[in-house]
Amino acid sequence: MHTKTLLELSDALKHKKISSIELTQHFLDRIKKFDPMLNAFITITERTALREARKADERISKNQASVLTGIPIAHKDVFCTADIKTSCGSKMLDNFVSPYDATCVQKLKNTGMVLLGKTNMDEFAMGSSNENSYYGPVKNPWDLDKVPGGSSGGSCAAVAARMVPIATGTDTGGSIRQPAALSGVTGLKPTYGRVSRFGMIAFASSLDQAGVIAKTAEDVAVLLNDFAGFDPNDSTSADNPVPDFTAHLNKSISGLHIGLPKECFNEQLDAKMADKIYAAAKEFEKQGAILHDIDLPMMRAGMPAYYVVAPAEAASNLARYDGVRFGHRCDNPKDLEDLYARSRSEGFGDEVKHRIFTGTYVLSSTHYNAYYKKAQQIRTLIRRDYENAFKNIGIILTPTSPTTAFSIGSRMKDRIQMYLSDVFTVSISLAGLPGISIPAGFLNNLPVGVQLIGNYFEESTLLNVAHRYQQVTDWHLKIPEKFRGE
Ligand code: GLN
Repeated sequence: MHTKTLLELSDALKHKKISSIELTQHFLDRIKKFDPMLNAFITITERTALREARKADERISKNQASVLTGIPIAHKDVFCTADIKTSCGSKMLDNFVSPYDATCVQKLKNTGMVLLGKTNMDEFAMGSSNENSYYGPVKNPWDLDKVPGGSSGGSCAAVAARMVPIATGTDTGGSIRQPAALSGVTGLKPTYGRVSRFGMIAFASSLDQAGVIAKTAEDVAVLLNDFAGFDPNDSTSADNPVPDFTAHLNKSISGLHIGLPKECFNEQLDAKMADKIYAAAKEFEKQGAILHDIDLPMMRAGMPAYYVVAPAEAASNLARYDGVRFGHRCDNPKDLEDLYARSRSEGFGDEVKHRIFTGTYVLSSTHYNAYYKKAQQIRTLIRRDYENAFKNIGIILTPTSPTTAFSIGSRMKDRIQMYLSDVFTVSISLAGLPGISIPAGFLNNLPVGVQLIGNYFEESTLLNVAHRYQQVTDWHLKIPEKFRGE
């Protein structure tokens, strides 16, 4: 059952080949068996899952089911879930239970999906390796000594090891696409505003976007139909019509113009990695797409601009954790100042503190013009670069990450090296564009991901192109050896 796609599972449920209870139990058993090796889950919601599965079975028997009813899912622990702990990977929120569901969680609940648990992540979604979690690192299912990528590493590892058919994630600078690449799964970051941020714990509000991690692009499309859409509770959510994302999956891509930015394929990119990405591009060419070398000169400014804008917004967003209203509170504070200072120093981990310091510095009156304002100007130039590119081409193709999964511990002492993991993803986030990472082969037995970038609200195009690739390749169907059995 764990090898089946969402539509296959849905069909099996509909025709009573399996019940949602059986399906849920199957995945819960896999989690019990495999998660001790991976640490992909922070919370496993066995009891509520079985209860929801029973309700789903009733809906199915009354013919009131939608395509998602009865299918198990896991949410990244950044999404608020009523009555279930939402930690955001932080000691600060280790005791936090939200009184309400995030909008996108609620929407999937309404369809009758079954929540299996909350997945591990870098603290407050800050990281590229999942090593910044208060709950310990997540292991990569392809090699347990390697990181799964981050910050949605728990969701990606869980899908890669087939402990859950599909999972949610969030992406601020690459946190869906990069771990999807390193873990060998498919991960979509939609256009900024496509999915509601209400109830999603904020890191950098102008960049944060919820998305989907699955085995196939088709599965992503099926979920996105219910996941996306305008939300009056989120002032930045887009009031655009939500198309049927599954409608154009099989459309021909003949005549599609695909741009390969020269800036990504320079001497700094490992030649073997470049070969894999070119091989993926060739597959599209075989289907009639036309490849172009393009210039995106501002892409290289993405990294420095991101590491000014994101910490600035984080410093501001994280000011709410003061030990007063919710979250960690220190013991026996002497006075208010002591309460703030100790609650925050005890509750936050190193990377989060580092970002708060950086963010506060770049927003200070003496440095604002030199850093924050400049970064916002660069952001505009990056957006223009992409807007110009999309005048002539349909999608852009790049590597998702410059390397495959790296060893646990190997980049923890070198922040710049860690930050460079997202060199190909951050500028897309700054521009607010949609991007998807799909499995495109292996290097030394570790997955390689190719990133496809679309114009605003063109998720359908990305999913179509990704699906066409997955029709002629089987990289996305590979399962890491240790997790192949029942
Ligand atoms: N790795 C990047 C960072 O550490 C991106 C994180 C994300 O997208 N949430 O900020």
